[in-house]
Amino acid sequence: MPDRVLIVGAGPTGLTAALELSRLGIPVRIIDKQAAPPTTSRAVGVQARTLDLLEQRGLSEDMVRLGNPGLAGSVYGGGKRVFRLDFTRIDSRYHFLLFISQAETERILRTEIEKQGVRIERGVELVGLAQDVLSHDPNPVKVVLRHADGRLEQAQAPWLISAEGAHSTVRATLDLPFEGKTRDEQYALGDLHIDGELVETDFHIFSSEHGFMGLFPMGDRRFRLIASNPLSKPSKDTAPAIEELQAIYAQRSHIPARFRDMSWSSWFRINSRMVSRLKVGRLLLGGDAAHIHSPAGAQGMNTGIQDMMNLAWKLALVLKRQASPVLLDTYEQERPPVMRDVLSRTEGLTDVIGAESHLGPWAGEAGVVQEQIAARMSQIAIAYRDRPLSVNHALGGGLHAGDRVPDLPVRCRSADGDGWQEKALFGLLDPSRFMLLVVRSAESAATPADLYDAMQPWRQLIGVAEPAPATDDSARAIPVGVRPVGQRVPGAARRPCRVRRRRASIGHGS
Ligand SMILES: Cc1cc2nc3c(=O)[nH]c(=O)nc-3n(C[C@H](O)[C@H](O)[C@H](O)COP(=O)(O)OP(=O)(O)OC[C@H]3O[C@@H](n4cnc5c(N)ncnc54)[C@H](O)[C@@H]3O)c2cc1C
Repeated sequence: MPDRVLIVGAGPTGLTAALELSRLGIPVRIIDKQAAPPTTSRAVGVQARTLDLLEQRGLSEDMVRLGNPGLAGSVYGGGKRVFRLDFTRIDSRYHFLLFISQAETERILRTEIEKQGVRIERGVELVGLAQDVLSHDPNPVKVVLRHADGRLEQAQAPWLISAEGAHSTVRATLDLPFEGKTRDEQYALGDLHIDGELVETDFHIFSSEHGFMGLFPMGDRRFRLIASNPLSKPSKDTAPAIEELQAIYAQRSHIPARFRDMSWSSWFRINSRMVSRLKVGRLLLGGDAAHIHSPAGAQGMNTGIQDMMNLAWKLALVLKRQASPVLLDTYEQERPPVMRDVLSRTEGLTDVIGAESHLGPWAGEAGVVQEQIAARMSQIAIAYRDRPLSVNHALGGGLHAGDRVPDLPVRCRSADGDGWQEKALFGLLDPSRFMLLVVRSAESAATPADLYDAMQPWRQLIGVAEPAPATDDSARAIPVGVRPVGQRVPGAARRPCRVRRRRASIGHGS
């Protein structure tokens, strides 16, 4: 049993690391300098890809139940709507942008890691570190931790994950450049109740000569408001008042609305920065410790969670000696292009929605462009093509090694080996083992039984499945990977994701 991996920071990134590693049987120690978890809403937008991944851990149902699904984003300029970004055609069960407080998301993750027997050590801060990766010491990472009572503790670990957020001690100690820029403009935010005509199925972006304003529906008529160029001068001693937010709203929106019951407000500025390295010896960085950017597009927390989903199974295999440590290099090869793309897209989006005059090219965009924008924003389009783990042998078609696998009806051998079980592929995916999907050409005979027999010795590590036989002709007409966005695979034996709605229940494709 390896010694405990040290995870510094119990925000969404650190919690995901703790969840993933502990599920894979790796002992972890997770610390956070704060005495208690934050209660403010912060990241309110959870993307489809994050929900797809959390579903495999059994968490998405709770999140959807507690959150509010945003089915579209309406962008307004000059007193009218110029663009509506439709999420309902995203190729996921979660064909929406889920609005839920970050405090709730963190609580759900915390509850799950507690079930794994992991206890978060609070009021414990990483204040010093060193590593000697050339030694044969199995715990080459040495740290100094300061406890709430001032006591200093020396500790060691085989690996350390810095999930410390924007002000990472690990990043500072390594003197890793955090390259990028701080934007000039100031922002105000407020969580409040809105009476009026703003619908709760959409989020609303108002672009005007005064600046940008966004309203994000949290459910039960509560909205998050974010606006650039506030009317008063931000200061450390005050937070935006509800009257100022109401005045900003009146300045930039043509839709009647009245604000009340504000629960949180704050000023903030936008940094757009990332590190050039995610792995230095036995030190690994992810989440805001590695990349920060505009909240436009709701990407930051989602990217941090997915950083850890990418890293944890690799670290687990290395620690169990089932893979060479070079596997961890692929974390640094796969994630930075995703981070760079997030930085450039959020930066571009912040510029576009910041001024009404920039909205022109968006107006009247064709459906296919909309689908591409929604697929990228929902992070469904993230792919690891042409990376070392993705060796492409496809002879054509849309699907390429490294792409997100489409959810397919598949069949696999039942546990007793005598019969077949039909399932949805996503229901079989789990980072605790690989899945070998055997796709036969139409002419070939049934999958040889000896393939299943040959895989028996590795059944703990590798599952085997094959696309389920088509039940009608239309299924055969849609080759794997060329399914249009939003179209369901005929016969997919998949329970639609039912979301709590105030008036109705929606499912995939509705
Ligand atoms: C206004 C706003 C809106 C946003 N909206 C969205 C959104 O809709 N969707 C989205 O995806 N993202 C959004 N984000 C970004 C999101 O909040 C962050 O990306 C996310 O919190 C990053 O998570 P993290 O775990 O990496 O870091 P953090 O949440 O910052 O957590 C880091 C933790 O590490 C602890 N820590 C730090 N240093 C140490 C140390 N030396 N020792 C011990 N503990 C330490 C801290 O106490 C903290 O608990 C938004 C951000 C803002 C400001």
